Amino acid sequence: MKFYQAQNDMAQNYINGQWVDSNKRIDIENPATGEVFANIAHASESDVDKAVQAARECHLSRALVKVPPSERGRMVRKMGEYLLQNKQEIAHLLTLESGKPLWESLIEVASSARYFEYYGAQADTMEGRSVPLGDGYYDFTHYEPYGVSAMIIPWNYPLEMTARSLSAALTTGNACVVKTPELDPLTNCYLALAAEYAGFPAGAVNLICGYGHDTGAALANHPLINQLVFTGSVATGVSVATAAAQNIVPCVLELGGKSAAIAYEDADLDNLVESVRWGVLFGAGQTCSAMSRLIVHQAIYDEVVEKIATMMQNITVGAGVDDKDMGPMISEKQRNRAENMCIKAEQQGAQAAFGGRRLNRDGWFLPPTLYHNVTPDMELAQQEVFGPVLAVMKFTTEDEALAISNGTDYGLVAGVFTRDIDRAMRAAQRIEAGQIFINEWFAGGIETPFGGYKKSGYGREKGREALLNYVQTKNIAVRISSVR
Ligand code: NAD
Repeated sequence: MKFYQAQNDMAQNYINGQWVDSNKRIDIENPATGEVFANIAHASESDVDKAVQAARECHLSRALVKVPPSERGRMVRKMGEYLLQNKQEIAHLLTLESGKPLWESLIEVASSARYFEYYGAQADTMEGRSVPLGDGYYDFTHYEPYGVSAMIIPWNYPLEMTARSLSAALTTGNACVVKTPELDPLTNCYLALAAEYAGFPAGAVNLICGYGHDTGAALANHPLINQLVFTGSVATGVSVATAAAQNIVPCVLELGGKSAAIAYEDADLDNLVESVRWGVLFGAGQTCSAMSRLIVHQAIYDEVVEKIATMMQNITVGAGVDDKDMGPMISEKQRNRAENMCIKAEQQGAQAAFGGRRLNRDGWFLPPTLYHNVTPDMELAQQEVFGPVLAVMKFTTEDEALAISNGTDYGLVAGVFTRDIDRAMRAAQRIEAGQIFINEWFAGGIETPFGGYKKSGYGREKGREALLNYVQTKNIAVRISSVR
């Protein structure tokens, strides 16, 4: 029986292959209307413990490593196939709980499936190496799963962020406990159904939902987890990393960003504006790698501001189910926070070329928003808005542009728009960020390693690199006795 068809108020935690209810529930609202349309069981500390114990049992039984890697990879790929088979239904639910337009939800389901395809295909490629110790010895390294992998997931791409970590962790043979985001946890339930469909044993995938300060903290601090992947804000990342340090478990932190594109005077402007549209409006700007700053050469500054304002005027905004270009923000709190940052920027001298105030309708809508005459010291140029808000700044020299680009605490991604390859590559060398896009924001995909410099985090998700987060190296040294 499909989860969503079963009734939304059946939404429960998934522990050791069973749906587990709770007497406390969390309301889930539709961001397009502000109305509660579902609720989900709130995992208690004891539920968190049961989920971790189930994963540990699964790990200790060796159920996941007994399966040959090629077969485990096939199972991981089947999870992706399950998502694709149920794509429309999952996308519809994702749209209701997150507010994103249906077209965006369909992209998210397809991307989530692609993670399972990509990593599943690599299950039997995790080869160790042979270490030369000289005559009389053989020595080799071997990758083993950590055991219990704990994942704490944000609300902005709830299905995809879980798929990203879960696919790599299962591929490498870890048993997983996922803390789903309390604002939009429902589509994550399909991942439990996908694991069952693929034939994973009970305990391999466990899902728990709750708030961060209780359920999330209980998972991060649990003494029996062996590895921790956190995707979310810097402030929470600090407390999660502290918990990991206290338990001496490795931790990956995928945190926020304040990513900048530099547009030189020879940039292809139509291409630039298209990248701005994706970069700051996809997900209503609630994307860690959003293009939230644009640093424009003074020779093209006025033209660029005008072109982006025109593009924004033509963006349709509406409820996710109406499938417009852009949907609402996730919650009233996030929308109000973004709007307040806009008001403050104006008080500091920034000028709105478009947007900046909530829409006069139900739901948590902020229109596409463009501020120019922003200076690098303003809050709007330093802090993550996490909304559809672009801050535009002017530069004259290359050094100045690079200094502005590097001038925040973050270092997630960055972009350069120019036809001059030398200039682009100089920037790529000097920008302090984990990923550089040249002439297309979001260029690359699941294959490209992704993660932060500076306060944007450490460790990498996506790409081949991510698999190494989920394994530990064992070295085996063999002494060969001489022939008697
Ligand atoms: P958040 O830090 O508030 O919450 C993220 C998750 O952590 C949620 O599941 C939450 O319940 C949990 N949590 C909160 N407090 C906790 C605690 N004390 N202990 C354990 N868990 C706790 O972040 P958010 O608002 O959900 O997400 C937005 C942030 O995530 C933005 O800063 C964004 O840039 C970042 N993000 C980063 C990436 C990336 O890959 N780098 C991807 C998506 C989002």
